[in-house]
Amino acid sequence: MQQSAKNEVKQLINGIPTSDGDGVHLTRLIGNAKLMQLDPFLLFDAFGSDQPQDYIGGFPPHPHRGFETVTYMLAGKMRHQDSVGNSGVISADGVQWMTAGKGIIHSEMPEQEQGLLAGFQLWVNLPANDKMTTPKYQEHSAANIPQEKREFSTVKVIAGTTMQGTTGIIDNKTTAPLYWDVNLTAQQCFNDNIASTHNGFIYVISGELSVGEQQTKVTKGQIATLTTGDIFTVNASQDSRFLVIAGKPLNEPVERAGPFVMNTRQEIEQAFADYQHGRLA
Ligand code: FE
Repeated sequence: MQQSAKNEVKQLINGIPTSDGDGVHLTRLIGNAKLMQLDPFLLFDAFGSDQPQDYIGGFPPHPHRGFETVTYMLAGKMRHQDSVGNSGVISADGVQWMTAGKGIIHSEMPEQEQGLLAGFQLWVNLPANDKMTTPKYQEHSAANIPQEKREFSTVKVIAGTTMQGTTGIIDNKTTAPLYWDVNLTAQQCFNDNIASTHNGFIYVISGELSVGEQQTKVTKGQIATLTTGDIFTVNASQDSRFLVIAGKPLNEPVERAGPFVMNTRQEIEQAFADYQHGRLA
């Protein structure tokens, strides 16, 4: 029988400022030289600015194949439009979960010309068997996302199930992701369970946390990757808001090039050829 273990901080990462799309300023926390991937997560970007020049260019039409893109907004509005006929606008605390599968061409454009735009993009890998699946799009506004209220915390459950049984709005059996947005009062503790099969990380949106038995400090704007375990404990030294994200690793070869993530070099070349010849989506 396996002994229970606390999730401790494995790696603390500050992220690297960069830009993507048409000049959108962002901080890349996963998918950079410090952390190429945290299987099954291929990329994690945080963006946030009230300067239109930092975001107004948006992400004009571009392709994807072989994985899922997840956009979660904190402020402002973003419009999604894709080649299989989906379109929608999400605003604060809304989520778009797009399964690119065999191929999609989409754009993600700010639906505003001024004010604060902030949020996250996460890339979740698909297993070899699902890489060429039919594209799928799930969009939910804040009102649709289950919320669990505890004495000193609130958990918005986008994906996964909490210890108290609140289940997220996103259904994904292969990587069984967990995506929680937690608000925690200063000097209080948040406990839950991340499946010990999963790789996980936390991102601090505001405030400061200490994580695990070792009470490792994680501050605003940092991500902390976690050791596997089944007791997740954080303490807030001030009022804090943070994301908890975890998923089951695929343990498969990863070949990535720009907007495509496959298992082999040949499949990547095929993706580029399909895109060039209009066969991708
Ligand atoms: Fe995209």
